[in-house]
Amino acid sequence: MKLTAPRGMNDVLPDDAPAWLKLEQAVRDACRRFGYEEIRTPVLEHTKLFQRGVGETTDIVEKQMFTLSAREEAEEDTLTLRPEITAPVVRSMIEHDLLKQRGFWKLYYFGPAFRKERPQKGRYRQFHQFGIEAIGAKEPLVDVESILLFAEILRSVGVEKFEVRFNSIGCETCRPAYRDSVQKAARSKLDRFCPDCKRRIDRNILRLFDCKIEGCKAAAKDLPSIKLCGPCADHDQRIRRSLGSSLPLRVDPTLVRGLDYYTQTVYEFASPLLGAQDALGGGGRYNNLVKELSGGEYDAGAVGFAAGVERVLIAMEASRGAPPEPPGLDFYAVAVDESQRQALFGVVSRLRAAGLSGTMDFEGRSLKAQMRSADKLRARVAVILGPDEAARGVVKLKNLRAQGDAREQEVKIDDVATKLRGA
Ligand code: AMP
Repeated sequence: MKLTAPRGMNDVLPDDAPAWLKLEQAVRDACRRFGYEEIRTPVLEHTKLFQRGVGETTDIVEKQMFTLSAREEAEEDTLTLRPEITAPVVRSMIEHDLLKQRGFWKLYYFGPAFRKERPQKGRYRQFHQFGIEAIGAKEPLVDVESILLFAEILRSVGVEKFEVRFNSIGCETCRPAYRDSVQKAARSKLDRFCPDCKRRIDRNILRLFDCKIEGCKAAAKDLPSIKLCGPCADHDQRIRRSLGSSLPLRVDPTLVRGLDYYTQTVYEFASPLLGAQDALGGGGRYNNLVKELSGGEYDAGAVGFAAGVERVLIAMEASRGAPPEPPGLDFYAVAVDESQRQALFGVVSRLRAAGLSGTMDFEGRSLKAQMRSADKLRARVAVILGPDEAARGVVKLKNLRAQGDAREQEVKIDDVATKLRGA
């Protein structure tokens, strides 16, 4: 049997890696400029973190978690591959008492997440997310900053075509009445909803808005919108006023997002460049999650977003055409015959120690084959060592990007690094 990667889990091959690196660097750079610090958490967490943090009746927890059935784990203490990264970040903050050191943290992450989904373009079982969490403030300007940072990252990698769907789902004061009114309205047109949604009406009514089935989506559009309480309406207004027309914002009363922990602000970045799975990422405010996961020890308002790396890469490719070229090497070292290999390895090591990038042939191939490799790996210069050069303590440098006589020169081994750095 031919061995393959697990279903829905992809390799990132060397040709694709430069685009990944470009996005990762753009994320790190923008987060640093906005004052966010990196946090890394394990890919496995106790299953109950997600049950409590994401919500028992969400699709993620009900259907999509990869849970390890390791025999040594007691039934009630299994481990799960993280389906999202917000709950782990909050768990880590609480575990390490970070809020005792500082009342307000701005954190970002970049890494894999796992969901048991039916794979299709833009939807995988191992995917990657970058995201931020600003924990410790209820100020609406933090919501605004999170949206501006998301937009800044997209623009910095050339993705200009996106819209921001925006809504407020209120708080414990205004949401119960909203839930009731949606429930009542949904019950009065029960036949328009799928069996899953019928169950949601009783168990977790707002999940109705997440259903992907067209009939349900159409029916959901006719359901009532939320009437925000005073503080939530004020929060919402301040965000919209502050964002002004700096972004293509579309208020969407049916946007509630698939996770239970949101309060007030929810938003989603979507792009027409993506096709059916059009969400680049989403986020919002989650004022109760820290309290919930810390059992009341900490109470901190928070806001954050998670973006899908693979989705942003699809949008980058559609925006730009050609993906970035792999960077290439400073040099490729070529041994004219076998007897030079050991000495050449010494030259290569010295050049690397001087900060240059390069490699050499390890397969004992012909001079011609080695020169072909130098081209394929996009080396700038071939560093050639034959018996004659070795005897005189020199190498031949061949500039692979130049034409004619200027291409070749002899340089003392001691001077090669200086020469290559200047070239
Ligand atoms: P969510 O936490 O579900 O809102 O996910 C945030 C973002 O992660 C989504 O908008 C997608 O861009 C991305 N995402 C979520 N699930 C997947 C998946 N199965 N495959 C690829 N990307 C995903």
